[in-house]
Amino acid sequence: MTKRDYYEILGLQRNAGEAEIKKAYRQMALKYHPDKNPGNKEAEEKFKEAAEAYEVLSNAEKRARYDQYGHEGMKGMPGGGFGGGMSMDDIFSQFGDIFGSAFGGGFGGFGGSTRRRVNKGTNLRVKVRLTLEEIAKGVEKKIKVNKLVSCSTCHGTGAAGGSSFSTCSHCHGTGQVTRVTNTFLGQMQTSSTCPYCNGEGQTITNKCNTCGGSGTVKGEEVISLNIPAGVSEGIQLSVGGKGNAAPRGGVPGDLIVQIEEIPHEELIRDGSNILYEHYISFPEAAMGTSIEVPTIEGRVRIRIEPGTQGGKVLRLKGKGVPSLNGYGRGDQLININVWTPKNLNRQEKEMLEKLMESENFKPHPGAKDRSFFDRMREYFQ
Ligand SMILES: [Zn+2]
Ligand SMILES: [Zn+2]
Repeated sequence: MTKRDYYEILGLQRNAGEAEIKKAYRQMALKYHPDKNPGNKEAEEKFKEAAEAYEVLSNAEKRARYDQYGHEGMKGMPGGGFGGGMSMDDIFSQFGDIFGSAFGGGFGGFGGSTRRRVNKGTNLRVKVRLTLEEIAKGVEKKIKVNKLVSCSTCHGTGAAGGSSFSTCSHCHGTGQVTRVTNTFLGQMQTSSTCPYCNGEGQTITNKCNTCGGSGTVKGEEVISLNIPAGVSEGIQLSVGGKGNAAPRGGVPGDLIVQIEEIPHEELIRDGSNILYEHYISFPEAAMGTSIEVPTIEGRVRIRIEPGTQGGKVLRLKGKGVPSLNGYGRGDQLININVWTPKNLNRQEKEMLEKLMESENFKPHPGAKDRSFFDRMREYFQ
């Protein structure tokens, strides 16, 4: 499915100001609010779409990124691209900031102090180990997770066949109980979650035998993860709604995917660059040679110029890791070392003694051979 342009969703020009964006979103949210469109899936989608557009356009940093790179630029950012986007809970939790109390009061089901509790499944955490090659290209991983799934016998409702739901007689369906107590300060009114229905506002007459009334059972699911290129150790990606199922038909939790890097045998990752050390012999350094080096795209052959000094850093442009935002890519840096032989035999010593006498073999670094520190500064700034 192609994603619609965020400006188009809210009916805005690209140069719209902050106040205009807020106003447009407010209108959309009022029009497509679930309370006004009960059971209307299309309205719910429009409502979510508008919330996502607002989430991005109301944030200067995200908006700038979106303006420049479009939906691609939002990959890996909270609320954009990866997985299911925003849940209804996320959207409603924003409303306080955007609409103030006037909005919450207008819709009894959400936001008000008598809000009925919506069960939410717990989040699941998994670790995914990736090779450097997978990180560089991005990868689709199928993982099997053990989790609570919706009970198929009762379709997640927790009620046995023929059973029915009845409004909780203790809280009359509000999920909250109010207690008035007389204290020396006068009458005090406190409200708390109804203990009889656990805040759900209704009770089941006959519990499902399979799940004991919870609406969830232990199960497993194969989940396909689209991991973008450029992730790194410790990064967490969240897939909305793929966590544990919620008791009795609530909102499932999220799946939190933590990335682990499998160290490469030869290459070292340093941010978006790849580092590699290579030794050549002294004759190769003096006369030039060609060497084969590993890269994340396979082995490549590179030329070593005659007269190469130890410590020279060669750069393979664009052979590093792409940045997570989907633009730009690092380089591979090859540090050339010259191997100094140990334990020379007599014959080798005689040859080297002859070479030592040669004026040409005496070190004479000129102004052109910059110091180690200058070179490092150039490569790593
Ligand atoms: Zn059940
Ligand atoms: Zn109750």
